Amino acid sequence: MESIFKHCPNCTSTNIEFPNNVRFLCHDCGFTYFHNIAAAVAVVFRHSDRILFTVRNMEPDKGKLDLPGGFIDPEETAQEAACREVREELGMTILPKQLRFLTTFPNNYLYKNVPYRTMDIFFECVLHDEQVNIVAPDEIKALQWFPLNEIPEEKIGFVSIRTVIQQLKAHQI
Ligand SMILES: [Zn+2]
Repeated sequence: MESIFKHCPNCTSTNIEFPNNVRFLCHDCGFTYFHNIAAAVAVVFRHSDRILFTVRNMEPDKGKLDLPGGFIDPEETAQEAACREVREELGMTILPKQLRFLTTFPNNYLYKNVPYRTMDIFFECVLHDEQVNIVAPDEIKALQWFPLNEIPEEKIGFVSIRTVIQQLKAHQI
C-alpha cells in the first residue's frame, strides 16, 4: 500500500516509514503518528421482516446501499453517535435505550484517497411503521425497505454491512 504521506509533517524529511499506513515514523526527527482505526456506528432499522437501507449520494460507494450511521465524534458514546446520525440523516428522534447491540465488523473507508480503517458498531432498532424521511439529501439519495431474504447483497457497498446482513440472514446475531 502506498504511503499517504510523502514527507514528515514535522521536519519535511523524506526519510520516513509508514507501513500499511498505520504507524508513521520519521527517522530524522523521531516524529511518530498512529493512523488508528476510526469508530463508526450503523443502525439496522427493522419493521416486521423488512430492513431499511439508504442509497449513498456521496463517495465512497456512491449509489450503493448503506445503513444510517456514521463516524463517532470525540466524547460521544456509540449509542449517542447512532442517535445523532439518525437525527441528522433521517430527522428522526430515537433514544439510546431503543438500540440493541448487534455486533461489530472492520471496514475500509477510502475518502479523498486517504484510506481509513474503521470499526463499525452495529445496532438494531425496531420501528412501528416504514414512514421515514431523508433530511440529508447530499448524503442520501433514496431510502429502500427490503425483506431480509430479498436484500440484493451485490448492491451493498461496504463489506462490513454485507457481512452483518449475511449474519442476520443466518441467525448468527
Ligand atoms: Zn521528521
